[in-house]
Amino acid sequence: MSAPARVLIVGANGRMGKAIAAAAQKHSSLTISAKADQGDSLEALIDGCDVVIDFSAPDATESVCRVCAGTSRPLVLGTTGHSAAQKDAVRVAALTIPIVFAANFSLGVNALFALTRRAASLLGPEFDLEIVEMHHRTKKDAPSGTAKRLAEILNEARGLGTNVSVHSLRGGDVVGDHQVIFAGSGERLELTHRASSRETFALGALRAAQWVIDRPAGLYSMEDVLGLHGAE
Ligand code: NAD
Repeated sequence: MSAPARVLIVGANGRMGKAIAAAAQKHSSLTISAKADQGDSLEALIDGCDVVIDFSAPDATESVCRVCAGTSRPLVLGTTGHSAAQKDAVRVAALTIPIVFAANFSLGVNALFALTRRAASLLGPEFDLEIVEMHHRTKKDAPSGTAKRLAEILNEARGLGTNVSVHSLRGGDVVGDHQVIFAGSGERLELTHRASSRETFALGALRAAQWVIDRPAGLYSMEDVLGLHGAE
């Protein structure tokens, strides 16, 4: 049996960083070998690592990408709320290293992406499109990265300029709810996903870390990791 791949977690003191460290204890093929948070030097920590998982803050992304690309380490990037320039830095790094960049690492939400694409193609333009998301009171970005991705999917399916309203609710300790509503005359289709534990994102991120290690340079989604493309 080969040695477990060594993971560096960036954002290790946060909710997701802790959930990933806890989930990794159940994993035999990955081990957490280093943890970084605000103020730590990635250059000093990355040496003994095979792959990096980042769930921190968007202003960390450019330097995480630079260090990973400079040391040829694959990256799993779960942070959301990026500016266009920060997303460009991810695309540039993906020319050198493989990166899984996903707004949501849960299996259920990635199935929701595929189902949303399918429903949008089945239901015509007479159906109005609404997205509702709710998260805990301390979530920094709104709308969520997942809600933005759902809006993108609806725009891809219906054409640019499609009117998609996104409604963001914040409160309590809600881990993450997303609902896509197709509202027609006399009927309404609703697709809903509710995350009740961060473990689902953590297990998905670990699965992505294992998958990305053997990939060529490029920008990948969680749908690539799960083999969901074409599933609809
Ligand atoms: P959090 O606020 O609990 O934790 C973030 C951690 O990152 C903190 O410990 C903070 O000190 C650290 N941090 C901030 N700037 C840093 C830097 N420059 N370098 C290193 N560490 C830094 O947040 P969270 O709930 O754990 O979420 C973290 C990110 O992951 C957010 O962007 C959130 O939206 C995203 N998220 C993504 C998914 C997904 O499936 N893709 C799921 C949940 C959360």
